[in-house]
Amino acid sequence: MKNKNQQEEIKNDNLKPIKIKIKSNLPANKPKIAIVALTSCEGCQFALLDLGEKFLELVEKVEMIDWGMIEDEEDSGVSLDIAIVEGSPITEENIKTLKKLRERSKLLVVLGNCAAMGGVPEIKNYQEGKNTIKHVYKYIQGIENVEIKEVDNFVKVDFTFPGCPITGEEFLKYFPTLLEGKIPERADQPVCVECKARGNRCLLLDGKPCFGPMIQGGCDAVCPSSRMMCQGCRGLRPKGNVKAMRATLKKMMTDEEFENVTEIFGLRDSVEEREK
Ligand code: SF4
Ligand code: SF4
Ligand code: SF4
Repeated sequence: MKNKNQQEEIKNDNLKPIKIKIKSNLPANKPKIAIVALTSCEGCQFALLDLGEKFLELVEKVEMIDWGMIEDEEDSGVSLDIAIVEGSPITEENIKTLKKLRERSKLLVVLGNCAAMGGVPEIKNYQEGKNTIKHVYKYIQGIENVEIKEVDNFVKVDFTFPGCPITGEEFLKYFPTLLEGKIPERADQPVCVECKARGNRCLLLDGKPCFGPMIQGGCDAVCPSSRMMCQGCRGLRPKGNVKAMRATLKKMMTDEEFENVTEIFGLRDSVEEREK
């Protein structure tokens, strides 16, 4: 859409060019945004839509250049203030799209566990020794079987909205700062803080495993509030003490069980890195 500063030339009867101003409801300075899905289930984008009115109010403040999930219009390819990326860069096309987005965006932020940590697809990396692909496809010739890598293996990531799916309220909290061109600061706070605030009895006290103390909070402790262990979809918190967590959990789960749970959301490589 043309903004109010853009002008068009038309010719009058005397063939002298005159200028008219094209009016637009968009102020020229609205930040330009694109929301792009790579390989994903699109659940994180649905978490945005689930915000309803609150999300629409936010959308009013931006110029949406591309959002394939809700509109068919071609991306004009203009420079962006923020590119929001969901999903894993798995195919060659995904990787090309991602690199192009980075080139034209001041900030690139990722939405969700797949983009940030490899997500559920990363289970394949850990299980490849067991030939997982043969359990899925009868004939594997011609099937690309690439290693799953997080977005930051390909391009610089300025900010992450973690989780599977992301927490909509957290998006509303931090996105305005990103719109100002700044990177928000997130407190290093475990899931346990919100779990306690909700008045839950700690699963560990009942001898049941939970990753809460080493995992980045911000999800309102949804899993332990339903008496399910935190499996770490939001990733390790910067100061999360993996060794202490593992020592505590040894009384509640075997090493194999621990490993299996860390594979669900692509947490295993981060845990191994932290344990070195
Ligand atoms: S993080 Fe979860 S909800 Fe989001 S795209 Fe990946 S699988 Fe879907
Ligand atoms: S149940 Fe889990 S998240 Fe809640 S306080 Fe205990 S360890 Fe922390
Ligand atoms: S409790 Fe843990 S697994 Fe559940 S949403 Fe929060 S971080 Fe993810």
